[in-house]
Amino acid sequence: MDKKCFVCHSLLTSENNSSEHIFLFSLGDTHPVKGIVCKYCNNWLGEVVDFDFVKTFKGLYKTVSGKSEVVSMTTEQGERFSVPIKNEQIENKPILSQSPFKFIDESNFSEHFYDSTDAETSMKKQTNRNPDKNINYNITKETSIPTFYIKPKIDKVNFTLEILKIQAEYLRSTDYNVNTLGEFIFKYANVNKNLPNPFEPFEKLLIYIFNSVIQPGFKYIPKNTDIIPGVSKAEVIRLKEIDWMFISLFGKVNMTIPIITQSFLNLLTS
Ligand SMILES: [Zn+2]
Repeated sequence: MDKKCFVCHSLLTSENNSSEHIFLFSLGDTHPVKGIVCKYCNNWLGEVVDFDFVKTFKGLYKTVSGKSEVVSMTTEQGERFSVPIKNEQIENKPILSQSPFKFIDESNFSEHFYDSTDAETSMKKQTNRNPDKNINYNITKETSIPTFYIKPKIDKVNFTLEILKIQAEYLRSTDYNVNTLGEFIFKYANVNKNLPNPFEPFEKLLIYIFNSVIQPGFKYIPKNTDIIPGVSKAEVIRLKEIDWMFISLFGKVNMTIPIITQSFLNLLTS
């Protein structure tokens, strides 16, 4: 059967067919699929949905990517550090402060460092950068080693759009025959893509879906499912005669959600 782009419904040909990463190449997906979306809509989805999603989750993904990565992390006090990390473990390499100098007056400033090595490295850099200035420093206070965490600030609209996109694309790729709400929203927004925000009519609905469908879905992880750090996947699972979807984003953000169709929503809101 001829395949059509799930967004603009144009026939997919050798000219316009594109390789789509259902889970985003920059977040670890190395198996793109064809026959889902045309080149133009693929680029458009990248701009309007994926771009912001990647920005939010790149740091978190880096902690499980399996490679040595430097991740910007904050402490509870809000200080930022460059933390070398591999497989969710902090590596035995220097952790560097990223916080800017706070000037006390014209000739004095204060700064937080991770430890005395970080302080000395940074001060040496300052001295080399300003050879004509006489820079002195002393450590006035040592505090305990901070604990780092990455807590992405989730934009509910963007996150829900990405999940609806994954759901639509994954189900298409498995020939699961259902029109999801995602397909409807992307088709509508694509027709209106010249508007400043083509998703505006759906924003309330997307936030509602996040709160009432996605957020509760974070709590349920099906048995017999492997969650692998760094690996993203989706699968349809049958629970109590209903099909659900399990989605794992790089093994770090996991959820079980219904297959969101128009009739599902009618049920939910009735
Ligand atoms: Zn298209």
